[in-house]
Amino acid sequence: MCPTGFLPRFQNRYSPVPNSDLITNTGKNKITNMYLTALLPFGSAAFIWAIWKFPVDRVDAPLVGLACFTIFFSSYLRIQLPRTKIHLTISDALVFLSLLVYGGEVAVLLAILETSFTSFNFRRQGVSISARTAGINILITAVSVFATALTLSLAFGGSREVISRFSSTNFVFALGTMALSQFLVNSILVSAFVAIKSDSTLWRVWNDYCLNALVIYLCGSAMAGISAMALAQINVYLFASVSLFFALVYFTYRRYVNDVKSTSARAEEAERNRADQAERHVEELQHYVTELEKSGEALRESREKFRHAAYHEALTGLPNRNYIFEALRRYLEEAKADPKKKFAVLFLNLNRFRTINESLGHDIGDKVIRQVAKRLDAMVSDGDVAGHFGGDEFALILPKISDPEVASRIANALTKRIAQSIRLKGREVFTTASIGIVFGSHEYTYAEDILRDADIALYNAKDKKKDCVVFDSAMYEQVVERQQMETDLRYAIVCNELEVFYQPIVRLDDCSIRGVEALVRWNHPRRGLISPAEFIPIAESTGLINPLTIQVLQNSCTQLAQWNKRLDPNSPIMLSVNLSGTNFGDPELVSQIERIMRRTGISPSSLKLEITESAVMENAESAIEMLKRIKETGVSISIDDFGTGYSSLSYLHKFPIDYLKIDRSFVTAMDDADENREIVRTIVALAKALKLSIIAEGIETIEQCQRLNRLGCEYGQGYLFARPLPLREIEELIFDGFHLPSLSSLPSPSGRSNVSMHIDAVQ
Ligand code: C2E
Ligand code: MG
Ligand code: MG
Repeated sequence: MCPTGFLPRFQNRYSPVPNSDLITNTGKNKITNMYLTALLPFGSAAFIWAIWKFPVDRVDAPLVGLACFTIFFSSYLRIQLPRTKIHLTISDALVFLSLLVYGGEVAVLLAILETSFTSFNFRRQGVSISARTAGINILITAVSVFATALTLSLAFGGSREVISRFSSTNFVFALGTMALSQFLVNSILVSAFVAIKSDSTLWRVWNDYCLNALVIYLCGSAMAGISAMALAQINVYLFASVSLFFALVYFTYRRYVNDVKSTSARAEEAERNRADQAERHVEELQHYVTELEKSGEALRESREKFRHAAYHEALTGLPNRNYIFEALRRYLEEAKADPKKKFAVLFLNLNRFRTINESLGHDIGDKVIRQVAKRLDAMVSDGDVAGHFGGDEFALILPKISDPEVASRIANALTKRIAQSIRLKGREVFTTASIGIVFGSHEYTYAEDILRDADIALYNAKDKKKDCVVFDSAMYEQVVERQQMETDLRYAIVCNELEVFYQPIVRLDDCSIRGVEALVRWNHPRRGLISPAEFIPIAESTGLINPLTIQVLQNSCTQLAQWNKRLDPNSPIMLSVNLSGTNFGDPELVSQIERIMRRTGISPSSLKLEITESAVMENAESAIEMLKRIKETGVSISIDDFGTGYSSLSYLHKFPIDYLKIDRSFVTAMDDADENREIVRTIVALAKALKLSIIAEGIETIEQCQRLNRLGCEYGQGYLFARPLPLREIEELIFDGFHLPSLSSLPSPSGRSNVSMHIDAVQ
């Protein structure tokens, strides 16, 4: 038996029970002390018995050698069985050998000494074993070896008898008994102690930690038996050979065990590495998952931002075109599901917003748009949508409104609110809005059509200078027709389908033709002659007016050049060509006029350009600039339809003009009342004061002609003399001449003093 001490037995044979020394508890200490007290008499008795009965006569060199080897070296020769907690130690086998060869007294003493030395050795090596634990260990060893010796003696008549009266069956039984009795006594005593210390049951400790050690005792017993037989039955040389054999077996096995251990250590290391790697992978995976979650979150946020940006206008933050379209599609779906359902859509646009941008700057323009957006947003109720289409266009969806009157009332309230002053950077800015109203219903197929109709209604409102207009289907037809006209007009200009008619302008005092006004006509293949009043606005809004004007100018100048060849150079006629206000936006206009005059060879003094008063007044300052540039070419300028454009007198004298053309409405009205005649008289006086020639248009009767002549009006044109005529007819008039017999008897102009009075009054 190898009494290496209680704690070492724990650690080496019966591990892994927790270190009993670490469990400190006064109650347990008491029981441990009681245990020690109970064990002490038996252990002491065994020790005394061993001393008392020690066979001094048997002490010989082999015993001394065995004792020294057992006490000082055996505890070092320990092998752990691979993959178990079991240590095979040579000390067990040596104690059994001493028991078999020298008897129980020697074995008990040897076991006590070996355990004491091992305990001492452990303490020296720094293993914490208390003196009490070491004492208990020694006592358990003494008691268990004594009990084993006693069992052998009782069962087989003593240990030495087992060898001396050798019978193989008996010998095997004896070895088994020796191993079992040593194992049982030792393990029960140890288990009891551990159970006390670890608060467990004796059975549990014995079963869990001690049972496996049985193999150690059986192996030790077998080794001791073989060695004893070798010593007793053969001779010392054989014993030496057997010992050498065992030593070889031991070292070979130890080497094998070490190999196995190192292999398993390597395997464990590899396993650990794999586990570490797996752990690192898991960590990396977790990191990756966290990163993925983070980027997912960032992605979600940026998707939200993109979504918001995709559905909201950056300048105002209001829902944008996409949003409005989606909302319209939704309401349209609902209306299709319920044909009774209608919803109002208001399309709003600021009037002449471009002027704000151009005159006050885009920064102010943006602020105005933001203010308008705020006002709209504040005025809509829950469930309504106020959206910004970009620029100065807004749209509102009012899902609960289906009555045109209510919608118009809301639209009027909106335009009123928008028309209120906006204070920006210490200045007040004003703007107005027009609104087109349409009702969405199941009759619409696409949301785009609803907005198209709202847009049509909006432009109708603008045309009619109204705050709002509710859409009706006739408007759509007009738009379609207008679009068709637009296409046809484009084609007509390219194909030179436009024809120029000429209306003579005569001197009122002698009725001689002094000039002609070129008036464009469109000979439409299906619709026949179309009046310029119908297609000029289309040409203006589409930009076709520029090529149209140039075409008319080119044709009429070419014509004038041909007429000039046949006319008396002393009485040339003057050509009047109409310009649109939109032509003023054409940077090429002046150079093109010059080019045409150059090409056709007409003198600038024989060309007069007419521009309506309203067109000039629309943007007076820039018009003045343009008129000056035109004037520099040497052509004359006439203000057409004078009296209808609300000219400011402060501007009038700045215009570089040569003629005033009294609008037809004043000429016609002269017949009705004296006041109207006074208006004409005033215009004539004004023209004279500004040194302008004056032409009256729309003269239809001889009376009108006579009155105008009397009022001092120099020139006139009208159906009285001739309607606008095609080329062949006007040429007849120009070259054959014409006379109004009654005009020769016209009285000479009178009332000049009155006119002067009026000029003074106006000035
Ligand atoms: P406008 O320049 O004032 O031309 C005079 C208009 O009055 C002409 O109408 C002419 O036919 C009409 N008129 C002349 N005398 C009488 C009369 O005694 N009684 C009545 N009821 N009407 C008379 P028209 O040719 O239909 O032209 C209408 C307007 O269209 C023109 O008014 C002018 O502003 C514009 N226009 C015509 N041709 C051109 C053109 O080549 N270029 C541009 N930009 N505008 C043109
Ligand atoms: Mg004209
Ligand atoms: Mg006119």
